[in-house]
Amino acid sequence: TVSVALFTSDLRLHDNPVLSAALRDSQQIVPLFVYDTGVHRTGFDAPNRQAFLADCLADLDAGLRARGGRLVVRSGDVVEQVHSVVRSVGATRVHVAGGVSRYATGREERLRSVLAGTGCTLAVHDAVVTAVAPGAVTPTGSDHYAVFTPYFRRWTEAGARDPVPTPRRVAVADIASEPLLPRSGITGISPGLAEGGETAGRQQLWEWLSSGVSGYEEGHDNLAGDATSRLSPFLHFGALSASELVHLARREGSPGAEAFVRQLAWRDFHHQVLAARPDTASDDYRTRGDRWRTDEKEIAAWREGRTGYPLVDAAMRQLAHEGWMHNRGRMLVASFLTKTLYVDWRVGARHFLGLLADGDVANNQLNWQWAAGTGTDTRPNRVLNPVVQGKRFDKRGIYVRRWVPELADVTDRDVHEPWKLEGLDRAGVDYPDPIVELAEGRARFERARGV
Ligand code: FAD
Repeated sequence: TVSVALFTSDLRLHDNPVLSAALRDSQQIVPLFVYDTGVHRTGFDAPNRQAFLADCLADLDAGLRARGGRLVVRSGDVVEQVHSVVRSVGATRVHVAGGVSRYATGREERLRSVLAGTGCTLAVHDAVVTAVAPGAVTPTGSDHYAVFTPYFRRWTEAGARDPVPTPRRVAVADIASEPLLPRSGITGISPGLAEGGETAGRQQLWEWLSSGVSGYEEGHDNLAGDATSRLSPFLHFGALSASELVHLARREGSPGAEAFVRQLAWRDFHHQVLAARPDTASDDYRTRGDRWRTDEKEIAAWREGRTGYPLVDAAMRQLAHEGWMHNRGRMLVASFLTKTLYVDWRVGARHFLGLLADGDVANNQLNWQWAAGTGTDTRPNRVLNPVVQGKRFDKRGIYVRRWVPELADVTDRDVHEPWKLEGLDRAGVDYPDPIVELAEGRARFERARGV
């Protein structure tokens, strides 16, 4: 018999329940990846993610080859391609990771119906993408948690799924493959985008566990220190397993590792919200009757990092340059767009998805909603002040100067408030004035929300 392991958000050999189950089922498998035209139609395949994906697939193929196998690649509609592979090798089972987006659950339904009556069954595996499966813990009377703290308690009690062994040999059925799309063929990639793939991810993981994670508790909000793991794109593509990370961090055992595990639980938290409320990918989780402003000039200034607020601009420029942004920056620029400019969170979420290598429907849309106060934040009307945030999390302006070189010569005192410079000092700095007064933005927002 032959089984198909359909790779989706689990592009890895280590701790991969989909691959393990396929290998348990059959002597020969088809490790399959489909360049899905359906994903392309949604516009989700932004260049940075295409590039990271290219690295992940090249590395997965190399890993399979080292085990006597190879990756089988197809392009087209994912369901039709799986069906065609099943027919050509006479597969009896298709294994796939359970997903939470409408796209993933729709794919699952279509796979089930196309395989019905073919003699081939579909096995959907839980807790491949997350450490704890969405819906595995629920509060009384609801299908999901809307508040993180009680979720985290139950998530901790439930425990991350136990890792599965890494296969030593992979025998692949006789079937043709299309070529992999190389990273070099993709245009529009951010110049500072990280390298993807399981091998690069594991190397980063070991470095993080040996020298980064212990300082995470104190250091994670320090923008200049850049002391977070930067593992998010690997997690997004499943080049690293969230469950394995939880187990490894727990074994490390420092308070930093505990704080890191808590962040991994946030990832699962948003997945369980999206699983229960797939509409929140585009609709408000909680409607607050917002009548968002649309000022294209302000939106463009935000996108391009020239709002006149150094910390906002630094973070937006980091995003454009690296396809990644520090979490503190993400929270600030999202608050600035949705509360100070009072622009619809969907505008910001779309821009993020166009650039983030870790851009993810669950994490992006629901963090945006959290920041906009339409989501699960229990204090939906708080507004982050870029000057206060700057003085707290980038005390000496190192992060700001890294990304906004126009401010290189401004003193530490003024670097977060360059509009306070006077005379020749101001004239010598080629940096815009704020596009809106913070007090005006806040008043507008509070009036609209009836605070
Ligand atoms: P670390 O601080 O090292 O954390 C470890 C891991 O925990 C991360 O890799 C991530 O998988 C998870 N994590 C941490 N914080 C969060 C969080 N708030 N929500 C969910 N998971 C979290 N994360 C994404 O993976 N994809 C997104 O598209 C995304 N969009 C965001 C949009 C906004 C407006 C905000 C405020 C946050 C967003 N985040 C997103 C969450 C968070 O900013 C990133 O996960 C984090 O910055 C990634 O860097 P890191 O790997 O160094 O994180």
